[in-house]
Amino acid sequence: MVIPTQTMRVPVEDLTRQWQQIEAEIMEAVRDVLPKGKYTLGPHLAAFEQEFAAYIGSQYGVGIASGTAALHLALLACGVGPGDEVITVPNTYIATIFAISYCGATPVLVDVEPGTFNMAAEQIEAKITPRTKAILPVHLYGQVANMERIVEIARRHNLKVVEDCSHTHGATRHGRKAGTFGDVGCFSLYPTKVLGALGDGGICTTDDPDIHARLRQFRYMGQRTKYNHEIIGYQERLDELQAAMLRVKLRYLPGWIEERQRVAAVYDELLTGLPVETPVVDPANQHVYYMYCIRATNRDALKDYLLAHGIGCYVVYPYLVQETGAYADLGIGRAGFPQAVADLDKILCLPMFPEMTNDEAALVAQTVRDFYGQS
Ligand SMILES: *Cc1c(COP(=O)(O)O)cnc(C)c1O
Repeated sequence: MVIPTQTMRVPVEDLTRQWQQIEAEIMEAVRDVLPKGKYTLGPHLAAFEQEFAAYIGSQYGVGIASGTAALHLALLACGVGPGDEVITVPNTYIATIFAISYCGATPVLVDVEPGTFNMAAEQIEAKITPRTKAILPVHLYGQVANMERIVEIARRHNLKVVEDCSHTHGATRHGRKAGTFGDVGCFSLYPTKVLGALGDGGICTTDDPDIHARLRQFRYMGQRTKYNHEIIGYQERLDELQAAMLRVKLRYLPGWIEERQRVAAVYDELLTGLPVETPVVDPANQHVYYMYCIRATNRDALKDYLLAHGIGCYVVYPYLVQETGAYADLGIGRAGFPQAVADLDKILCLPMFPEMTNDEAALVAQTVRDFYGQS
């Protein structure tokens, strides 16, 4: 059910408010790019790659056309190919899994932890086979997975680690940012993400000069120099115009993250004492709240109640990836994934965006309280 933003008292997200804040600077960036006639692989892309990598704390950044393509090219750059297996999780956006399939590899799934929704590191080793090539943790909803454990297992078994950082621009674990733990970090820059383009976009971060070189080659037709197509590559560059606009938005990112944390703190406080579990934050982590996802008793009825009262909310992701039509023939099923299965009927994302006011967050929380008959 899609309800237009204007009928909602509190929308789940609202990019029009952000536009009011950044309009002048974005239009300035657009006016800088358009007259120059250089619309791909220009100076803004190079600058954005450098600035984003510096912000994350990585050596290199490679701008890619989408987060999906970033994951695909990162796996290719790590040598993942037909017959290989890549270990990931069942509770993610389908793009994570598709990227594995695009390489001709097979996704192998492990369950998630009870608290954080992230990959259960202690279950990885049981899934490693001679064909395993990489581990692909997804830092879900805005906090980093148990990377010290995941990287340690990967090193011991000579596996690559590709991080899906599409929810964690700027999130840290032990003070280090998502995208610096594995061999490659992959970020979607879809408009609603914590850092979003004004259209599709993505970026990879890495410290490895070979992976960096391969990523650049894969994203532009397999060439290192013009017309020298050494390998089969792709046409998956981040546009110059998007890069110019992203440079503006990157400057706002730390402030926007603080605003998301402010909204989360209001929810945390006002949702206590209800049959609702608010987000569990690992003490090593700084959560950036791409989504504020609760585990709620009687979730479907709560969702209908909130929508009927003008409070935006949604279930993300309302499936386990192995139960989608595309992966039905893998025959993975539900056994072995008790936590992901249990979460499926409980997860609900509440409105979350940096421009949300405390009053709006309080109204959301009060409506949840009303549903459970508590004032
Ligand atoms: C958004 C997202 C992607 C894909 O990014 P696109 O830019 O939409 O291609 C991949 N993984 C996760 C977890 C995401 O949320």
